[in-house]
Amino acid sequence: MKEENLVYILDGKIYINLTNMCTNNCIFCLRHQKDDVVGTNMWLETEKITANDVIEQLKPHLDKLSKGVTFCGYGEPTMKTEILKEVAQWIKENYPTTYIKVNTNGHGNAINKKDILPELKGLVDEFSISLNAQDEKLYKELSQPKIDNAYEEMKKFAKEASSLGFKTTLSVVSKYKDYDVNIEQCENIAKDLGANFRNREYIPNGY
Ligand code: SF4
Repeated sequence: MKEENLVYILDGKIYINLTNMCTNNCIFCLRHQKDDVVGTNMWLETEKITANDVIEQLKPHLDKLSKGVTFCGYGEPTMKTEILKEVAQWIKENYPTTYIKVNTNGHGNAINKKDILPELKGLVDEFSISLNAQDEKLYKELSQPKIDNAYEEMKKFAKEASSLGFKTTLSVVSKYKDYDVNIEQCENIAKDLGANFRNREYIPNGY
């Protein structure tokens, strides 16, 4: 079996690729266009990975921990919440000043059928959550969610994360084809949910 690429480096920072499973299928998702991020193949041959597999792949990169660690990759990190927690706990126990961020579609509570946020307190510092659209109709077009009430679930997750004191940022990908993402309305939604806002312009084939 080939070694799965569970850890990759982008701009000198550590990223963790826990899974290829996702409850969205965003039309602009990078994985529709390419197999790799800066030369690291993101497709896993098996989803049967352990926290220890991730930690072993982190070890050669400990010198980069001061720049933070982001759970991201070609899938939704909260599909593997238990592994995420174990890895984050190992990092925080051994390197307590490390900043840990999770890039997520915000479906974590729906996916895990429980409130996972209190369990992540002290392990995760920041959530960057894909808002993607100002309303459910456009969200469905852009994100193609596979779960019910995905847009509401995502917003509820963001509101709770921010109220629990996690740094919380809602993001949109703008200028993808001629989809009408209304930046002002999205920014207002973020503000109402107590979150920061980030508008990331779509970069073809990019990061
Ligand atoms: S939520 Fe992220 S990983 Fe999932 S399809 Fe959308 S862009 Fe891709």
